[in-house]
Amino acid sequence: MLAVYFLWGGFISVIDEIEAKKNITLEQLQYLLEGNEADYLKERALAVRRGIYGNEVFIRGLIEFTNYCRNNCYYCGIRRDNQNADRYRLSDEEIMDCCTEGYRLGFRTFVLQGGEDGFYSDEKICHLIKAIKGQFPDCALTLSIGEKSRESYEAFYKAGADRYLLRHETANEVHYRSLHPKNLSLRNRKECLRNLKDIGYQVGAGFMVGSPGQTTKTLYDDLQFLRELNPHMVGIGPFIPQHDTPFANKKAGTVDMTVTLLSIIRLLLPRVLLPATTALGTIDPMGREKGLMAGANVVMPNLSPKRVREKYALYDKKICTGEEAAECIECLKNRVNKIGCSIVCDRGDYR
Ligand code: SAH
Repeated sequence: MLAVYFLWGGFISVIDEIEAKKNITLEQLQYLLEGNEADYLKERALAVRRGIYGNEVFIRGLIEFTNYCRNNCYYCGIRRDNQNADRYRLSDEEIMDCCTEGYRLGFRTFVLQGGEDGFYSDEKICHLIKAIKGQFPDCALTLSIGEKSRESYEAFYKAGADRYLLRHETANEVHYRSLHPKNLSLRNRKECLRNLKDIGYQVGAGFMVGSPGQTTKTLYDDLQFLRELNPHMVGIGPFIPQHDTPFANKKAGTVDMTVTLLSIIRLLLPRVLLPATTALGTIDPMGREKGLMAGANVVMPNLSPKRVREKYALYDKKICTGEEAAECIECLKNRVNKIGCSIVCDRGDYR
């Protein structure tokens, strides 16, 4: 009776309101994180994703080219103070080989990701960018190498880099300080993101789900920051403890919460590129499928050489460390097809 009354009386659900306003209140976020109307939330997020991108899933070939890092983020397995990390760098030749193999397999976006490794001067990075864009002019090149000066970002852009991934990690000042040592600041992280956008990069921000100290309020701050920044991509995945970090004994984030947040982000930023991350696939064998069915539309398989895969251990039990790139993409194609989507081989630009 009550439901009928509400329908006739013009009742609209919380989810319809979020979709219409492209905004969310703290109370609405709390309500959805408690698991209310989970099916309808996914349904709407999926419909919005389909309206813009259809059933196409974009692929990005991730090349983890160095695990040296000058930073000491408490959550990250390749932090400077982790003496047990087996450090490596890929040579330019190895990186080019990854791209060649990736291109053969249909990749048209390459992502160079690494720790903040002083070995790679701006000059070296620019040289790499030119080599990759010279040999694969029809591909997009993404960098994910942390915080740099505006001048460095400008130089990389001029050399041909198209996109930059820099998760903001958390948009809450107090929370940011609890995840990072003193020399790192949210202010600088945000400044970097603004510079990147201003220069003309397609930019990706994002955060970990369930990181220690995260609350509904810090997540609310994340969502409002994302609305304000309006990035082209948002990377979110569960926090997963790594055994050699200060957060070794903290609890991991959950699939349900990650999936809920993916859907919410799809409703707030309808056109955004939203990866179903490797971390999501790590905490649940069907995690990436669940993400895609909740509004995500990107997957980022690993193109790094097999010999280094286990060494890029941001967190424990990472999947796909024992497979070749070709096996990974074959497996993913099957998984994506099974849920009614298909992988497309183009740059997968923001629409
Ligand atoms: N140095 C680069 C790349 C960092 S690695 C940069 O600063 O942007 C890419 C992302 O992995 C990070 O932004 C972080 O959100 C995520 N990450 C790091 N440690 C993690 C962990 N223990 N669990 C889940 N994700 C993690």
